Amino acid sequence: MKVQHYREIDPLPVEAIEEATEGLTIRRVISEVDGATEFTMDVFEIERGGHSAFHRHPWEHQIFVLSGEGTLNGSDEPARFAPGDVIFIAADEPHQIVNDGDTLVEFVCLIPKAALAAYYLGRAAERNLPGVA
Ligand SMILES: [Zn+2]
Repeated sequence: MKVQHYREIDPLPVEAIEEATEGLTIRRVISEVDGATEFTMDVFEIERGGHSAFHRHPWEHQIFVLSGEGTLNGSDEPARFAPGDVIFIAADEPHQIVNDGDTLVEFVCLIPKAALAAYYLGRAAERNLPGVA
């Protein structure tokens, strides 16, 4: 078991794994390091005016918005989100999360671990980076 405040966990090197982001901090708060076998839990922070990459990948996201307001861009009409909202992004659905509000956006993002690990290990190999899955 583990109980730990998420801000005690060092952020990931976002620039090594995500292009075209702005003002993004990602903490991988639960992962295989903790013995998790099915899911990875990330906590994202997006500064005012920042955004995640507009991307797609073969795994889903399950998101719970903790704070801030912003816009979810994708293949549908842009959708507003606010604290307490849940967001589901299916596998291979294009998506981008934008902080166009006045405060820090924070959300929890669950990712199925196996697909994520395979993808990032492949990317790291392509770019001669150490494994960052
Ligand atoms: Zn994504």
